[in-house]
Amino acid sequence: MSGNPAVVMRLVASAYTVAEKAGAIVRRVLHSGELGIVEKTGANDLQTLADRLAQQSICASLSKRFPKITIIGEEELPAEEVTEDLIENGQAEEILQKSCPAEYSGLKEEELVVWVDPLDGTKEYTEGLLDNVTVLIGVAYGGKSIAGIINQPFYNYQLGAGASLGRTIWGMPGLGAFGFQLQEVPGDTRIVTTTRSHSNNVVTDCVAAMEPHEVVKVGGAGNKVIQLVEGRASAYVFASPGCKKWDTCAAEAILHAVGGKLTDMRGNPYRYDANVKHMNSAGVLATLRNHEYYVSRVPQSVLQALKSD
Ligand code: AMP
Ligand code: MG
Ligand code: MG
Repeated sequence: MSGNPAVVMRLVASAYTVAEKAGAIVRRVLHSGELGIVEKTGANDLQTLADRLAQQSICASLSKRFPKITIIGEEELPAEEVTEDLIENGQAEEILQKSCPAEYSGLKEEELVVWVDPLDGTKEYTEGLLDNVTVLIGVAYGGKSIAGIINQPFYNYQLGAGASLGRTIWGMPGLGAFGFQLQEVPGDTRIVTTTRSHSNNVVTDCVAAMEPHEVVKVGGAGNKVIQLVEGRASAYVFASPGCKKWDTCAAEAILHAVGGKLTDMRGNPYRYDANVKHMNSAGVLATLRNHEYYVSRVPQSVLQALKSD
């Protein structure tokens, strides 16, 4: 380790422990039985007490240690004092020990943008599909996603008491991805993962056009990218404008770190500058391998239905 770790490595090391704290909050709210559900734009766009507290915890903890970074969180919350018990001051030592990729070693705090989805898969959280839930913290520089942290608060919950609950995955292109075992779907089998709760005819037409051998409908953008890197899906196909930058930033960095890609349905990358529009209007297409095949299968009718970003 260098004596003085690069700012971005310190940020990722903090974000790792902050994501773990947020995951613990998400578990605690569930176990309290009082989810405090609020509809945002409608019944398929929910916010719970866990979304609110986890975002307060993440944003307050990171901005306390890194006051000059720009942090953009999903939830619109009233500006109120965050209680001390929500602040996390830790840093993951094993991340501080890693060498920062040379291209990022000189980055300044004020050049970094952090995209926060405090609870991805809220709909599934309220329905008890707990392994679909993730906490997403993505770091962008120059419009590109350069680091991502995903906490999965209920990982292993099906195993019952005794199993160690929850895990954190992280990655940086040029450095690697950690906290999981990289696996690919074997051979040429096309397993497409897509939304389970935000579908429509354009979404299903596009999935069918990929000629999948199997379709896996699960909740959460973070969770679907985990399906890709753990060999349970070959492509994440979502031809709809519903996903936002905080859904994709962290996952994109981890995917890039292992040679994958995340783009819109035309194959164009999204940008993560502080001033971009939040909606991923031209859909999300993510793969570990063979991205071009999936881009080439997207029907014209689907592209016409989606606006450019
Ligand atoms: P899903 O694949 O349906 O779990 O969606 C992945 C992410 O995109 C989640 O954070 C959803 O809340 C968000 N999302 C997708 N479609 C919509 C939509 N139509 N309205 C609101 N949020 C959406
Ligand atoms: Mg989300
Ligand atoms: Mg969310």
